[in-house]
Amino acid sequence: MLQETPVRAQIDASRDDRLRVLVVGAGVAGLTLAQLLRRRGLNPVLIERAGPDAPSGYMLALMPLVDPVLEALDVVDDYVAASVGMDRYRIRGRHGALINQYSMGGLLNAYGDYRGIGRGELMDVLAARGGAVSHETTVTALEQRGPVVAAAIGGTEAEFDVVIAADGLHSATRGLVLRSEQVSTYDTDWGGWVVWTGPDADMDLGEELWGTGSFVGTYPVKDQIGTIVCGPRETRAAGLEAFVARLRTEIRDPGERIDRVLTEAVDGRPSYYWSLTDCRSDAWSIGRIGLVGDAAAGFLPTAGIGAGMAMESAWVLADRLAEADAGGAEAALADFERTQRPRVEAAQKNSRQLAPLLFNESGAGAVLRDVATRFIPLSVALKPIRGLLETRPAGLS
Ligand SMILES: Cc1cc2nc3c(=O)[nH]c(=O)nc-3n(C[C@H](O)[C@H](O)[C@H](O)COP(=O)(O)OP(=O)(O)OC[C@H]3O[C@@H](n4cnc5c(N)ncnc54)[C@H](O)[C@@H]3O)c2cc1C
Repeated sequence: MLQETPVRAQIDASRDDRLRVLVVGAGVAGLTLAQLLRRRGLNPVLIERAGPDAPSGYMLALMPLVDPVLEALDVVDDYVAASVGMDRYRIRGRHGALINQYSMGGLLNAYGDYRGIGRGELMDVLAARGGAVSHETTVTALEQRGPVVAAAIGGTEAEFDVVIAADGLHSATRGLVLRSEQVSTYDTDWGGWVVWTGPDADMDLGEELWGTGSFVGTYPVKDQIGTIVCGPRETRAAGLEAFVARLRTEIRDPGERIDRVLTEAVDGRPSYYWSLTDCRSDAWSIGRIGLVGDAAAGFLPTAGIGAGMAMESAWVLADRLAEADAGGAEAALADFERTQRPRVEAAQKNSRQLAPLLFNESGAGAVLRDVATRFIPLSVALKPIRGLLETRPAGLS
């Protein structure tokens, strides 16, 4: 568990570090990075805009990319205990008929684990060995002054050798160092309501319904199923209930699970709406300021790989920073960008390519997709991800 710590106390603890690091954002990438640096003997200052009791978010399916990172953090047992193995993946077509079912385990087990976990539970796993954080704190100004970066944080100012923006897709810290035209966006014009629904007897199964103008995804995590109900963004105004009512008129037989989660989705429990967009930054290292995770390249959830890539990137970045001293900080960031950016952008491209397939509004397109999906082997569908797994960073601790 992380310890709530005044930011001044964190700054004081980092003062004598060989490399003074500020990490902005205690999400998937930022927390991974801070915890890895702590294991390597540094005292990074970790700040988070949200409060400690902020809603813990959505469900994540994590590719085996995360396994070596969790090993480096010594939290593999915590991870396994907080997550479920995802062995099977099922696709239903535009009227709800079963189109294909794949054995994910059969293909991915050669590389490691494929598991489902709530984002909040993942945060707890990453925090299992403890460490400091300052919630409700952000950085409002950054200035590179010769060999240091001066940062205005929560009413105080401090100097760092390196500042890392790990504050997600809509990173405000990125906005302090890049111009808006240096950040491009791919917008699907779709969005989705995320709802926590109850468990069933198939907690190793991820099941999706690929409709016409609709998409429903159900992903098991420990003791519950995370459900996302997606449609073109203009359907948001009428609300989830109206959207589900329309969907039910189009889907003859959604199958037992999707039928149930759609009923639960509109029974009054909370839902959170996510716009399905991503982003790509022109530069990941600007002098002594670096970007990692979604702040550098934000992901659509279509391939289920954004969090895995964010953790892998944090691991690579931690390695480069842990090997550097203040004089080598800029070179370490540049090396991180050179190594990791092509991998992340390739994964992001794959997520973008899947979007028109999943978020489809054309009747003819849906017919073609249903036919093609019956015949696509999983090995072909997962080829880009297997490529990433086969070329994982090696030799890091
Ligand atoms: C609905 C949905 C489903 C997804 N499913 C999957 C999946 O199945 N598998 C997968 O691998 N990926 C998935 N992803 C993508 C994945 O969640 C992201 O790629 C990943 O969380 C990126 O990590 P991050 O640390 O960069 O950002 P985040 O995890 O978003 O963390 C950013 C942190 O920064 C904080 N913050 C924001 N602004 C500031 C600020 N100004 N100052 C300080 N702190 C700030 C935020 O509060 C947050 O804690 C999904 C995403 C969504 C939205």
